[in-house]
Amino acid sequence: MKRSVVGHKILKGIYHYFLVFFLSAFLVTCTTMLFVSVLSETLEIELTGDHLQTAAKLTFLNVIVLSTLFTVFDTIRRKLTTEKITRHITSAAKEIVKGDFDVRIAPIRSFSVDDNYNEIIDCFNTMATELSSVETLRTDFIANVSHEMKTPLAVMRNYGTLLQAPDVSDETRLEYAKTITDASGRLADMMTNILKLNRLENQQIYPQTKPYDLGEQLCESLLRFETVWETKGIKLDTHIGETVLVSADAELLSLVWNNLFSNAFKFTENGGKVTLSLTSDETWAIVKVTDTGCGMSPEVGAHIFEKFYQGDTSHATQGNGLGLALVKRVVDIMQGEIGVESVVGVGSTFTVKIRRAENGLEEAR
Ligand code: ADP
Repeated sequence: MKRSVVGHKILKGIYHYFLVFFLSAFLVTCTTMLFVSVLSETLEIELTGDHLQTAAKLTFLNVIVLSTLFTVFDTIRRKLTTEKITRHITSAAKEIVKGDFDVRIAPIRSFSVDDNYNEIIDCFNTMATELSSVETLRTDFIANVSHEMKTPLAVMRNYGTLLQAPDVSDETRLEYAKTITDASGRLADMMTNILKLNRLENQQIYPQTKPYDLGEQLCESLLRFETVWETKGIKLDTHIGETVLVSADAELLSLVWNNLFSNAFKFTENGGKVTLSLTSDETWAIVKVTDTGCGMSPEVGAHIFEKFYQGDTSHATQGNGLGLALVKRVVDIMQGEIGVESVVGVGSTFTVKIRRAENGLEEAR
């Protein structure tokens, strides 16, 4: 069945070729004859009908033979160059369709091959690399979520079992119940963060930007940590000078400040110091959150904005590595900038730049 289809295709191809060849040969013969007869009249050479007939036949045959030869030559050339490469690219694309994102095509270093093919191959390889990194991210994400869920779930199950024992004192029972509540709280926080991040990444959140007083918002966010800094005896230093208006989504930006303050207090030992400063230049409102905490190495610093990354595992139970990923996403959405400077054992400074509101205080009011 397949063979007869191929045969039919070849016959059709030959028929079309010869139709074109015959037409071309006929046209070339006619114009040559016209040219020859005009030339013979100009040069006063007498040509007989026999001469003209032979010349016409020769021209006609010449065109047919040359066209066939060129076509055969071109078909072989295409088989060796174009078709071989396109087959190669097609079979690699089929592998991608099957889900094998490791497939790559080697560039072709042949003089006879068009450079455009190497461009296509380059794009194909880039696409395959992108697809494979997306796949890795997806599988990593599932593995991370499962891993992060396992610990609090195990805690909840174990303490739930312990609670069922008949001889548990009231005090111990309360302690177990608190551990279960904490673990479920952690799980709920993680789910909330994942959902927020997901919505931010899929652009399902449309920022409601309006100008407002950033200093006021920073003070409100900071005050939420009052019990933490009092319990840990952390000294607080704030430098909020003149009123700085930003044009941003206040609810989204409060996520940024909460996460930065939460980390600053979390990673600073008892008796340490956290500094908040707000300054501005022509374009930006510049917020700096500095702590005298454990700091981080450049290797850790390079990954802190990745999802589920935790450089400091001693505080792993107080987070799940999603905070700074959220922060980065929000800052990007606000078209702001974020950076960190840190020295191990000395402390860290996170700098966030948010665009200032162009209009004055009136608009904010
Ligand atoms: P987590 O909720 O685990 O703190 P984050 O995304 O907020 O996750 O932070 C990721 C990592 O960045 C932390 O595990 C820690 O290693 C590092 N980090 C963030 N803020 C600080 C800081 N102020 N001082 C030192 N390390 C920090």
